[in-house]
Amino acid sequence: MRIIDCSEISKKSDFNNYDDYGTYPQADIPCAKCCNSIKIHFNNLQKHSSNSFSHLRNEDQLKMNIFIQLNQLTTPNSWLDYYCPNCHISTRLYYESWVGGRHGEYGFRLCFVLFDV
Ligand SMILES: [Zn+2]
Repeated sequence: MRIIDCSEISKKSDFNNYDDYGTYPQADIPCAKCCNSIKIHFNNLQKHSSNSFSHLRNEDQLKMNIFIQLNQLTTPNSWLDYYCPNCHISTRLYYESWVGGRHGEYGFRLCFVLFDV
């Protein structure tokens, strides 16, 4: 299992609805095994925020949960996961969903990614 900080692999790691709504920015998350990039959009982050739906099989989720526990990692409040469409390793992106600041403002900060390599 490998853990990589989003600031090391993505130029964009902060999203908010004031700046990013309608401009469709994206973060490119390169796979730690094959380097194939996945594009993460504002909508993807919004959809998965405080949502426990997983795209991974139970055993792959469990493997990641155990890794988090064993390493006593503090996880942000949101995540989304997927299999790399190219090499099929399981991947989980952790991010923080927040509200506040200016009126009606909300957004997301990408934190780190777990790769099953
Ligand atoms: Zn891959």
